[in-house]
Amino acid sequence: MPELPDVEKHRRTIAEHATGQTVRRVEVHDPELLEGTTPQGLGRSAVGREIGEPRRLGKWLAVGLDRGGPTLVFHFRMTGDLLWRPVAEEAGSADAVAFHLDEGILSYRSRRLLGGVTYLPAGRDLEAAVGPLGPDAADVDRHQLGELLAGRRGGLKSALMDQRMIAGLGNELVDEILWRSGLHPARPAAELAEDELADLYSEFREVLRRSIRAGHVPSGPTWLNAQRREDEPRCPRCGAALQRGRVGGRTTFWCPREQPAPS
Ligand SMILES: [Zn+2]
Repeated sequence: MPELPDVEKHRRTIAEHATGQTVRRVEVHDPELLEGTTPQGLGRSAVGREIGEPRRLGKWLAVGLDRGGPTLVFHFRMTGDLLWRPVAEEAGSADAVAFHLDEGILSYRSRRLLGGVTYLPAGRDLEAAVGPLGPDAADVDRHQLGELLAGRRGGLKSALMDQRMIAGLGNELVDEILWRSGLHPARPAAELAEDELADLYSEFREVLRRSIRAGHVPSGPTWLNAQRREDEPRCPRCGAALQRGRVGGRTTFWCPREQPAPS
């Protein structure tokens, strides 16, 4: 499920392979994944333009076409993906939107027709497409995290998942961070002690750092994330049977022994 680390990986893919190349042709197999344009309109606006430096904001990825030209905004929701392939290969029906460049194909895919590519005409603000977002999770410092949480009502997990507070964290990252911090997902966000906040911030940084390096939330034997797909998920640290429940509408895992429920 794409979260900040996955989108950061896609940003690097564009920066490494596509930036500086010219769009030669655009192929659209799933027009319903386009927003703000049509397949014909996208072709007219993009062909002949140069791919700029990609910019990530939370789980969104923006790529300018030519200096001062329009912007393409990619969003990945649950099943979106972005691939780079050398030009010798052809695009296929799995490629929802394929940009044929000088030396390869940049293709956006989504198995469930969620997410998509938004076309922003020149001069349109990125916020118009993505809505109000908090600071990017990769840039948040400890002081800022404390201030953001202090201003919240409700539980920790819902707060951390709220893109208007911090942009980029999703279900898997937040469960992992809270489990490593020993904090129950329903703990009131504004009522953390100073040492709990310190632990939360340090795990927040560490989980993000390792996930960005991997390009996704890892699922090795020491990660809670690996247990999500088990029939009988167990805490990788203490062996307790993990609790599973709905928090903020999302399936949430936690260790009942090490993440005590708020009283
Ligand atoms: Zn445990």
